[in-house]
Amino acid sequence: MSEQRSKPTGLYVAGEWITDTDESIVSTDPSDADEVVAEVAKGDRADAQAAIDAAVETQDEWASLTTHERGAYLHETASIIEDRKEELSRLVTREMGKTIGAASGELQRTIDLLNYYAEVARDAGGNAPPSASENTLTYTQREPWGTAGVITPWNYPIAIPTWKIAPALVAGNTIVFKPASQTPAIAAELVRAFEEAGVPEGVINFVPGSGSDVGDEITTNDDVDIVTFTGSYQVGDHVHTAAAEAGKRVQCEMGGKNPIIVDESADIDLAVELTINGAFTGLSGQACTATSRAVVLDEVHDEYVDRLLERVESLTVGHPLEEGSDLGPKSSADSLEGDLEYVEIGESEGATLRTGGSRIEDGEFAGGHYIEPAVFTDVEPDMRIAQEEIFGPVLSVIEVGDYEEAMEVANGVEYGLSASICTNRLDHAKQFARDIETGIVKVNQTSTGVEMQMPFGGRKNSSTETFKEQGRQALDFYTHEKAVYVT
Ligand code: NAP
Repeated sequence: MSEQRSKPTGLYVAGEWITDTDESIVSTDPSDADEVVAEVAKGDRADAQAAIDAAVETQDEWASLTTHERGAYLHETASIIEDRKEELSRLVTREMGKTIGAASGELQRTIDLLNYYAEVARDAGGNAPPSASENTLTYTQREPWGTAGVITPWNYPIAIPTWKIAPALVAGNTIVFKPASQTPAIAAELVRAFEEAGVPEGVINFVPGSGSDVGDEITTNDDVDIVTFTGSYQVGDHVHTAAAEAGKRVQCEMGGKNPIIVDESADIDLAVELTINGAFTGLSGQACTATSRAVVLDEVHDEYVDRLLERVESLTVGHPLEEGSDLGPKSSADSLEGDLEYVEIGESEGATLRTGGSRIEDGEFAGGHYIEPAVFTDVEPDMRIAQEEIFGPVLSVIEVGDYEEAMEVANGVEYGLSASICTNRLDHAKQFARDIETGIVKVNQTSTGVEMQMPFGGRKNSSTETFKEQGRQALDFYTHEKAVYVT
């Protein structure tokens, strides 16, 4: 299923596209690694510095606009992306392998986020609590933090940059954006949409390049005021330390090891569907909020496992552009190798591989990074497959004796992003919402899927916890708030 390569593209600095760098990033199609999707000019530290200079230079002018004026650019960008939704959805699928349905959902989310923050912009100032003195006016005033460094992963290659850039712009910050090296082409299209919407030169600057080079420059450069990062814990922990040492405000959203608890009262068909949607379909388990552990009470364990295996074996692994595919390929050869290694680890630890876990490479799958969705049972909570983020379609089922043990297991990991419970007991639902150590709590819903007006972020190793993303709360990270008294 060969498609045209994207237009030549590259860096965008001070309103100019730069396509003639010495090196380029070649992004390939995960369903056929020989297929080049795009070649994108690759930046280095000097380019990052030029981008930072442009962002610093433009910041006062951008901040001098009203929030309403800044918001209007977001509405315009949304409408440009809406006109290109189908083409851009295909580009997401071709660059990172999620199914076309999931990619189309991501594009819709991107459009919705832009429109949402355009509306938030109308009310993005401070507030005005009445003064205790009759002749005094008291109010708070939000001001931009400055130049924002934005570093993003490949799994939501257009929605995640948008949910960082949109509130940052509304708040009056200027941007230096480094996308993941696996997905530079779709990120460039987001930047192009902002450009076409008329966002002034220098407000958004885009530097594809390696993490250790461009990413590090953005993290440590004195002229970058704040850094927002989404990616793995390993990199995020480093970025957090380096940015904090350089005196910056920093926000890192990282990995997860998200559970679904299935209690004795649960509707088992619902529990199975929630697990399937959270662990396997669309992104092949490559979401930070993906379900990777099913913690199941012994009363319903066997019934749940039987029905789960039946459903997993009915899933269609196929080309991600085919509407009938439930799962596409993994995003890269490395990511596939990582999953296969975890399958071996699980078996060597003594868990039982009940289905899947093999590479698929025959016939139409040749050249792609495909794996059969895998389910392990007889998993002990301290096994590596139950503790570490696999970021693939590999589910660990852990049997427990009662609700208290389920909670202990659910909380017994270093991550704390999202968690779900399937139950018909209100007491369990309420206890779960209170006791689970995660930032996102789902009752009778999948661990994946969030609404943009709600704050997003995790606890423990999933997040730096200082500031939330999404919702109105996102503005807190990107602004100073002053208390003003006028008599
Ligand atoms: P990653 O390897 O940590 O990379 C994330 C970004 O950091 C990329 O742009 C990467 O650039 C850059 N980077 C790498 N080394 C750097 C350094 N030394 N300094 C500064 N930047 C550096 O993560 P990924 O593989 O792209 O994404 C998957 C991970 O993201 C998973 O762990 C997933 O759970 C997490 N995630 C979390 C959330 C959330 O909101 N909590 C959402 C989505 C994904 P290169 O691509 O050039 O290496």
